[in-house]
Amino acid sequence: MLKLKGYLKPFAGGLLLAIALLFLQAICDLSLPNYMSDIVNVGIQQGGIEHAAPDAISEEGMAFITMFSDDAERTLVGGAYKLIPNLIASKNEDGTGRMYDSRYPQAGENLFIRKQLDTEERAALDRAFGLSAWTFINALQELPFAAESNMADMQDLDLKQLYPYLPLLTMALEPDALQAAHDKAAAQPEPILAQAGALFAKAFYAELGVDTTRMQTMYLLRIGGLMLAIALLGGVATVLVGLISSRAAAGLARNLRHQVFAKIEGFSQTEFGRFSTASLITRCTNDITQVQMFMNMGIRMLCYAPLMGIGGVIMAVNKAVSMSWIIVLAVVIVVGIILVILALALPRFKLIQKLTDRLNLVSRENLSGMMVIRAFGAEAHEARRFDAANLELSRVNLFIQRVMAFIGPMMMLLMNGVMLTVIWVGAHQISQSALQVGDMMAFMQYAMQILMSFMMIAIIFVVVPRAAVSAERIAEVLYTEQTIRDPQAPHAFDPARRGVVEFRNVSVRYAGAEEDALHGLSFTALPGQTTAIIGPTGSGKSTVAHLALRFFDATQGQVLVNGADVREVTQKNLRDTIGFVPQKGVLLSGTVASNLTYGRSEASTEEQRAAASIAQALDFIEDKPEGFESEIAQGGANVSGGQKQRLSIARALVKDPDILIFDDSFSALDFKTDAALRKALREHAADSTVLVIAQRVGTILHADQIVVLDAGQIVGMGTHSELLKTCPLYFEIASSQLSKDELGEELA
Ligand code: ADP
Ligand code: MG
Repeated sequence: MLKLKGYLKPFAGGLLLAIALLFLQAICDLSLPNYMSDIVNVGIQQGGIEHAAPDAISEEGMAFITMFSDDAERTLVGGAYKLIPNLIASKNEDGTGRMYDSRYPQAGENLFIRKQLDTEERAALDRAFGLSAWTFINALQELPFAAESNMADMQDLDLKQLYPYLPLLTMALEPDALQAAHDKAAAQPEPILAQAGALFAKAFYAELGVDTTRMQTMYLLRIGGLMLAIALLGGVATVLVGLISSRAAAGLARNLRHQVFAKIEGFSQTEFGRFSTASLITRCTNDITQVQMFMNMGIRMLCYAPLMGIGGVIMAVNKAVSMSWIIVLAVVIVVGIILVILALALPRFKLIQKLTDRLNLVSRENLSGMMVIRAFGAEAHEARRFDAANLELSRVNLFIQRVMAFIGPMMMLLMNGVMLTVIWVGAHQISQSALQVGDMMAFMQYAMQILMSFMMIAIIFVVVPRAAVSAERIAEVLYTEQTIRDPQAPHAFDPARRGVVEFRNVSVRYAGAEEDALHGLSFTALPGQTTAIIGPTGSGKSTVAHLALRFFDATQGQVLVNGADVREVTQKNLRDTIGFVPQKGVLLSGTVASNLTYGRSEASTEEQRAAASIAQALDFIEDKPEGFESEIAQGGANVSGGQKQRLSIARALVKDPDILIFDDSFSALDFKTDAALRKALREHAADSTVLVIAQRVGTILHADQIVVLDAGQIVGMGTHSELLKTCPLYFEIASSQLSKDELGEELA
């Protein structure tokens, strides 16, 4: 997978931006439950009052609070408020009074206003107020005549009615009892203190004539609006990340396809031997799609899931440490499930790509060999072969899907289990006043987020190895050392030896073969001459032609074209000087004209006609209704074998090369056409070097030089009449093909 990282460079900027946006998305997603818990705890439970210490408090209220404080708290509270005396008198004098009047319409003569405090001081002050409130509640419960009182009774506390009884209460209480009530309050957890404090603060505000319902509504609207904004922000980030990663993934796939294709273009037969054509096609399509999918989804999950997992744990623990064990347990179970599933599914992913290769291979062979299959009545056999490959693939796919199908329900079960456990445990803690409802709800959401992120990590574990297998297969192609490469410092051709093809003691062994295909071959083909190569099938004739074109390199010896070693010139220069007609005529989809001008796109219509005429193709081309513009189907399926060969020959001639190589190109022609073609060729390509590979002696009878090959060795070289006398193999071939008269003439 890492081997392909170089190809990510053009998208690095976008990906970094996407990762930054993922951070933003995670932060948004993680903060939402927190605000929800604020809405429940503060907005609903505390009546929208955030702080136990109110902004303003009446003189009686201050006396009440300090009554239930210890000395340190009393000093703290005393220092945190300043007294505004004679509020009513000052009302008409300056703006201060009027301002307080509008805020606290029912304030009495004297009012305490909270000073500006920093967050820490404020928290300490809140705690002091919360402690006083709880001390009061605890003290009430100590009284013999007091009914069981709790926080619920404090919801609509009316302080005006309470104040007159305070002196009685203090009198009834032993000093020790007050201390005990305070100690008990100090043992309460922070949120519970805050809650009681906030209820008292609400009462203090109500006493001053503040509209506490409005306060609550404002708080709910403020936090609700904030949540909405955060959700929107997170949504925008999600959309942007999707956009960026999709673009990057599609771009990467495009680049990879381009690179793989370009690489394959430069492959020689050796490399094609290593990868089957089917496998190369799978790598160029299916494998790249896998990598694209990973880029698109995987990267998003890869960054988002750990952020959510870690962030979720931190937030959840913050909300309720006491329930962390639930998360630990759930995560252990999730990891366990994931491990089992991975162990089952992972080894099969590699298999899937291999099986896809095989399916491609079988279907390709079937499609291209359809004629043969029909002619031999082998449809049933082929269908079985295809079915076998198909079944195997679907079997493995099914297995993986079945295993994967477990993930969903298992996660559902687990999530619901976690939810139940949280509610069970949380409800107990809430009833013991150890936990706030909102915190439990937030904890539950964080637990879900954590589980979801582990689920995502599980999916990553599925996508990553799959993509890794594909990436590996793509990298294999991209990092294949091409055996045929242009030299660092290419030489130029020797103008004095233009058209000369020379083999110097050339031996060749195909990769993986046990024996050399050619043994120490030496001969020279000169311009203006026809050099023929004849020999039984498998004797190495095509190999000679391919060596001259440098489709692969000689194992030993040297192949020289135009006086230069083929390994020392560029492949383009080399192939530009050679017109090659392959043994198997291959046409490309397009028109007759587009095929003829394949080697030289600027060739004029006249030149095309001339070449077609030499190749004896003009007649049948002109017989077609659209002439040179007639369609040629893929692979030349809509012309006959002989026509295909003649078009291939014309295509080589249009190039007007110095060297012409015909690899058994006349075999599909009838004798008359063969002869006419050779005659025309002698006239029009008199200066060229012509290399004719043939099986028919008739085709090469008049060649200036004939090379007889047998099992990769030259067993004779000379003209027809010389060879008849000196080369037994040639005599044997000739006598099997020519009539007694023809032979006799020569021998005489
Ligand atoms: P001809 O054209 O004379 O029929 P070739 O030149 O095609 O013969 O092949 C010569 C020998 O090399 C044969 O024995 C053949 O099996 C072997 N051969 C040809 N092409 C390959 C290849 N790509 N890999 C391995 N062996 C090959
Ligand atoms: Mg051949």
